[in-house]
Amino acid sequence: MDDTRDLPSIRARLADLERVARRLDPDPTSRQAFRQPVLDYAEEFLRSLPGLLVYRESDDQGSAILDCPIPEEGRDIGDLMGLFHEAVTGPGINPASARHLGYIPGGGLYPSALADFLADVTNRYEGIFFASPGAVRIGNLLLRWMAELVGFPPSAAGDHTSGGSIANLVAIVAARDARGVRAADIPHTVVYMTPQAHHCVAKALRIAGLGDAVVRYVPMDDRFRMDPPALEDRIDEDRSAGLRPFLVVASAGTTDTGAVDPVDAIALVAASHDLWLHVDAAYGGFFLLCPEGRDAIRGLSLADSVVLDPHKGLFLPYGSGAVLVKDREALYRSHHYTAGYMQDAFHSREEPSPADYSPELSRPFRSLRLWLPLQLFGLAPFRAALREKIWLARYFYERIQEIPGIEVGPHPELSVVVFRFVPQQGDANRFNARLVRAIQSDGRIFLSSTMIAGVFFIRLAVLVYSTHRETIDLALEVIRQKVEELRGPT
Ligand SMILES: *Cc1c(COP(=O)(O)O)cnc(C)c1O
Repeated sequence: MDDTRDLPSIRARLADLERVARRLDPDPTSRQAFRQPVLDYAEEFLRSLPGLLVYRESDDQGSAILDCPIPEEGRDIGDLMGLFHEAVTGPGINPASARHLGYIPGGGLYPSALADFLADVTNRYEGIFFASPGAVRIGNLLLRWMAELVGFPPSAAGDHTSGGSIANLVAIVAARDARGVRAADIPHTVVYMTPQAHHCVAKALRIAGLGDAVVRYVPMDDRFRMDPPALEDRIDEDRSAGLRPFLVVASAGTTDTGAVDPVDAIALVAASHDLWLHVDAAYGGFFLLCPEGRDAIRGLSLADSVVLDPHKGLFLPYGSGAVLVKDREALYRSHHYTAGYMQDAFHSREEPSPADYSPELSRPFRSLRLWLPLQLFGLAPFRAALREKIWLARYFYERIQEIPGIEVGPHPELSVVVFRFVPQQGDANRFNARLVRAIQSDGRIFLSSTMIAGVFFIRLAVLVYSTHRETIDLALEVIRQKVEELRGPT
């Protein structure tokens, strides 16, 4: 007889399979045996963090991972923690360190790790109100809180994304759909931004099918900010040429220098020509929580869409971006779909469902990692930490100029300072490339570099929650030391 139809043999087979499959479901003793080494490791990591290098070069670059292929029978948690320690937290940049001052750092607030643990253990589904009303309420409450922060009305929509790149993509797709840009229009459609816009914007345009649109790079002032009259001139020229201006992407805190485009003046231009105004505030947006930030960033409320990155300005571990779109319908139109198998999911509509405003359906319960630290700590320490980062950048800007031969970029609007050493002879770009390598290899602090209009700059970006004045003093000391070593005796 066909054994796929023979009940006793089906039962016997199921019993065999269940015995092995049950290993996926550890009992309390096994859970404890898994958990304890992980918690012990995390605690030891945090305890030793102040003394760890922020960057470590290694010859093998974590290749021990490759010596451990995925096994048929499980490995020991202790061995795996040893491997994690050697191959993962050993080599490369340590973004948990207060001395990470490169790129745009963020840190990684501890309660977010606990929230991720809770979110994963309970596996609550934050996609549809019917499925997990409490989780969706947390997510939506946070979106309304962020909308209020940027000055959007409560009717604005948004989404918790994995980061700023995806958030920018979602905003650009909403703009494309809201303005009815069809395939045939694309070669005549124009997008405006400065050369300092984050590269994820160009990437998002292409992914959104707008790769053949015309991109106009708008001139900037001497502080790398968009020049609104120049924007208006470009738009006029393009209109006269029969093109279709569509979208302006402004930055509230560029990655290179922390420059804040004058969003209020740009908004007037955008509105008078009926362009969608998107503001990439992935780095800078949360500075709105402090008065210095509110002085620097004006007019976000006039945008059509804004991107914020909680894993930058709210110090969360990687994995949290956010997009806000003022016109709720625009985001909904881009993302609302139905299917037969979803028919019981949408009968409760007291709160909007994230799946209607996002490219994602199944998704992690991302908002919990934002909600828990905000609730536990309250806003006061966030405001203080953000102000502190701005003042640390101002402090660094003054002190770095005490080193002879150092030239600085613009006074920091937020928490990024660019500078370079100008040698008396020889190529400055080559000198600064060697300087940043020497600083990185030293490993006590981590700085990154950039090229702006052919000039090599070193950047200091202050945004780890645990970076305080002593870290900046150490950075100044390391920079002074490396300049002296490379410059040689004078
Ligand atoms: C970091 C950053 C992005 C990209 O965000 P991810 O979270 O890294 O994807 C976009 N724009 C700006 C201004 C940024 O600083």
